[in-house]
Amino acid sequence: MALTLSHEDKNKGLVFNIQKFSLHDGAGIRTLVFFKGCPLLCKWCSNPEGQSFSPELTYNIEKCIGTTECNRCINLCGRNAITQNENGKIKIIRERCDNCGECVDACPSMALEILGKFMTAEEVIKTVEEDSSFYVRSGGGITLSGGEPLSQAEFACEILRTAKSRGLDTAIETSGICSWDAIESVGSYVDHIFYDIKCMDPQKHEKVTGVSNELILENYQKLCRYFQETAITVRTPIIPGVNDSVADIEAISRFIKSTGKASSYELLPYHQFGESKYYKLGKKYQMNGANPPSEAQMKRLKKIAI
Ligand code: SF4
Ligand code: SF4
Repeated sequence: MALTLSHEDKNKGLVFNIQKFSLHDGAGIRTLVFFKGCPLLCKWCSNPEGQSFSPELTYNIEKCIGTTECNRCINLCGRNAITQNENGKIKIIRERCDNCGECVDACPSMALEILGKFMTAEEVIKTVEEDSSFYVRSGGGITLSGGEPLSQAEFACEILRTAKSRGLDTAIETSGICSWDAIESVGSYVDHIFYDIKCMDPQKHEKVTGVSNELILENYQKLCRYFQETAITVRTPIIPGVNDSVADIEAISRFIKSTGKASSYELLPYHQFGESKYYKLGKKYQMNGANPPSEAQMKRLKKIAI
């Protein structure tokens, strides 16, 4: 799938966060690099700032000191994209904003922030290597996440190749929605692939993510065939009303087994931790009223997951 980033420098990629000292998503202590942009629009996504392929302005209303004391951003924005709201705070008119970031520099309370920074692979590795002593001791390394890292396959490949050459353990989290060439290009440089399979029914998949799952399943089968030595963990986020039945998990388990590769399989309970990020980005949270699955339900489903 060809996805174009809104920048001209081919040597850089767009990253929205580099999170250090993670104990998840791979062996030992890791640094997670979050890529911006994803071809899926999962309703439950806990990283909505990873969906768009461009830098984005976020506004934290809690930090804003209010327009009585400060209206620097309103006065400064040349596109008239900021107005006062009825509660004495500000409102961003997203259709007018071009994410130039000028209001961010003017804001005294850091209520405004641009998420998404263009970086070279070397800059990413330099940041990751600041903690290399921890990796050596714990067997950890770097995990590419997102968004969908393989939507920026060349950038992902350059980071992983460099990381491997410096002795770091490498992992990637992918939705599998990308060309086979993208997966193949990183395959030799990655120790562990975390691969999302959300459900087996293509229509249901399209309804809840915006995209059919056919490419995901096809890529998974090829991955198992051509990268037999690479560790693969399949992950399914358990989403209420979407894929939380025994039949859903049995169907995914059958598919994993049918490839003949001994992948591990993890079920991750839906959570609402990402909800506030939607409001900061001016987006609607579509999972209002949904409850995370109970411990008993997760236990039941885990029993039948291979
Ligand atoms: S990012 Fe630029 S265009 Fe958008 S609100 Fe701020 S100053 Fe205006
Ligand atoms: S500049 Fe910052 S603190 Fe001042 S009104 Fe704008 S968002 Fe609020």
